[in-house]
Amino acid sequence: MDKSFNKGLDPELKKIVKDEWQRQQNHIELIASENYVSPAVLTLAGTILTNKYAEGYPGRRYYNGCENVDKIENLAIERFKQLFNCSHKPGQCKKGNFHANVQPHSGSQANAEAYAAILRPGDTILGMQLDAGGHLTHGYKINFSGKIYHGVNYGVSKKDEYLDYDEILKIAKECKPKIIVAGASAYSRLIDWSKFRKIVDTVGAYLMVDMAHIAGLIAAGLHQNPICYADITTTTTHKTLRGPRGGAILCTEELKKKIDSAVFPGNQGGPLEHIIAAKAQAFYEALTPEFKTYQMQVIKNAQALAKTFLDAKFHVVAGGTDNHLLTVNVTNINGLNGKEAVDILEKINIVANKNGVPFDPLPAVITSGVRFGSPAMTTRGFKEEQFIELGKIIISAWKLPKGINDDGLHELRKKVDILLNKFPIYEDIKLPQ
Ligand SMILES: *Cc1c(COP(=O)(O)O)cnc(C)c1O
Repeated sequence: MDKSFNKGLDPELKKIVKDEWQRQQNHIELIASENYVSPAVLTLAGTILTNKYAEGYPGRRYYNGCENVDKIENLAIERFKQLFNCSHKPGQCKKGNFHANVQPHSGSQANAEAYAAILRPGDTILGMQLDAGGHLTHGYKINFSGKIYHGVNYGVSKKDEYLDYDEILKIAKECKPKIIVAGASAYSRLIDWSKFRKIVDTVGAYLMVDMAHIAGLIAAGLHQNPICYADITTTTTHKTLRGPRGGAILCTEELKKKIDSAVFPGNQGGPLEHIIAAKAQAFYEALTPEFKTYQMQVIKNAQALAKTFLDAKFHVVAGGTDNHLLTVNVTNINGLNGKEAVDILEKINIVANKNGVPFDPLPAVITSGVRFGSPAMTTRGFKEEQFIELGKIIISAWKLPKGINDDGLHELRKKVDILLNKFPIYEDIKLPQ
């Protein structure tokens, strides 16, 4: 054995990872895009599968020795299709078979690959505006999607902050997009994919659904399944779906070849088979009845938190939530902005992110809002009761007079500690010596 092989864990790295484990234990995690993976997912993500090169697809690889990783990738593909394929519900879907690609390294890469499969540089993407809840990869100008392609936006209605499908149709007729992207990172209401389908059919565009945030809710059957309406559906695997950090794509049989070659060799080299194994495990977990119960609790918890803010006369974007997240406008309290509001929460061990609100007058580095999500704390066992208490702690922290609030914050942090102590996450982390 080569001597450097058994040097053991770098003490510097060991300390940092232990510190991060402590941080995850001691903080209330309310970032809507985060979650805690199961010990089984965690284990698989750290397996020797990382050693294997497997460019290509199962049964047609560029390297030898792929018999085991082929089985793993096929398992991930089959489970992923099983989780989202709605063709088993007769009459609901006329599209027949679907094709899955589980190799994308991330949600952004899945989107890049979906675009590359069907667009040419300069083609128009119609996607949701960033401050209305859209994602950078939906045609935003500082992102590849707005540089290579021509990005046009739709927002939400000024009246109720819901999607306005008539307005989207109007914009689509004007800009004649090659593709319309439905899906968001900070939209708290149901999205009707069938209405998007009608719009793309009217203007002759492709429909791509990016279900990154709500994939878990859809897998559990709690939100409309986009598969039957979209030409391409992309997702992350690490948000509500609670798998390893990564992406995946579903498409119609018709687009199968184009999608596969856009992923490899178009955008990526060797797939991360250890992560694909962890994805397969997450899909396995998501196929259980317990996962549906979990997702139902995710929604109930987000709604309990939203109600706590609404009862305290806060403006919650779109008046509440149908999913796992909500955005609260903080500017009517103590003259706060989004950045200040999340910095205050960090002092009492609550982690959330600042977020634009529709028609936000403040720049993206400041913002008027804070986005909260329930998936991570629901994994830890929080129910409505804990989310209501949490909401009250957050409101108290924001109401403390600015600048002279150290004692007040200390008291609130103690409350957070008490709340968290009953809900540990990983028992311990096993690191090599
Ligand atoms: C999170 C997200 C992505 C990007 O995922 P990454 O894995 O961070 O690249 C893409 N689209 C939407 C809607 C998202 O919310």
